Amino acid sequence: MTNQFKQRCKYCGAEGVTAEHFFGSWAKRSLRPYQPTHFDHRLIKFEGPVHARSRVPALGGLNRPGALRRQSLKIACRECNQGWMKRILDEALPYLKKLTEGEWVAIGEAERIAVSNWLILFSMSWEFADVSTQVIPKNERERFRVEGLPTERWTIGIGRQDRYFDNVYKRTMGVGDPKVPIRPEDKRGMPLTLMSFGHLVGVSCYFPREIPNTDGWLVRHGFEPLLPSQMPIYGGKPKAMSGNAVGDRIESMSESLRWICLGFAGWFTAPRP
Ligand SMILES: [Zn+2]
Repeated sequence: MTNQFKQRCKYCGAEGVTAEHFFGSWAKRSLRPYQPTHFDHRLIKFEGPVHARSRVPALGGLNRPGALRRQSLKIACRECNQGWMKRILDEALPYLKKLTEGEWVAIGEAERIAVSNWLILFSMSWEFADVSTQVIPKNERERFRVEGLPTERWTIGIGRQDRYFDNVYKRTMGVGDPKVPIRPEDKRGMPLTLMSFGHLVGVSCYFPREIPNTDGWLVRHGFEPLLPSQMPIYGGKPKAMSGNAVGDRIESMSESLRWICLGFAGWFTAPRP
């Protein structure tokens, strides 16, 4: 017997948790055959001189065999799962179905909010695969549950890839090392989640403090910004990423966050040091 009924919901604190399927059960029923998928979690610590760092592979509770779309974690109660979480999926579903099949949708307000909320929920929950990578504050989850809207701390973008493939990469950066002069707010770490889901590529990052120009950062990596943007930048579909682009992008995007963690707050606007 598991002790699932003693665990508390990570979102509302109620006792008893049920399995949360990250992609929703509709994704498992997709008629399109999908290839073996992969995901990884890494906790990146910054140590000593700027260029030294350690990467600790931390695969956590999702390190099970089988298709990515079948992965679930027991972190939320039945009421959350079937209530506000289901509403987020239901609102995003019409767009997710198109985007995963490679059909781009014009990004209006409804699309922007629905897809952003789904990606935020995904990354907030995915963190719990390994508690050592879990950094999003509890009050952020609480506020998201109650208000149903993201805070200004989130940067979210979507893009396309030319093949039909599922991946999830997660990096948590800047998790405190006392030897490095990191601001207290940054010690909480920055979680970056990059996932591909069919033809859709989604990226989400939670910043513990305000960072300017994250829109430009997303655009440079081939994403259409959904948050904090208020309007589409491309006004059309972004160029499709090819090959191993998603894996390359997680490395490049992690690298830029490293500079922020090390105190170069102007990295997004200034030339690279
Ligand atoms: Zn709950």
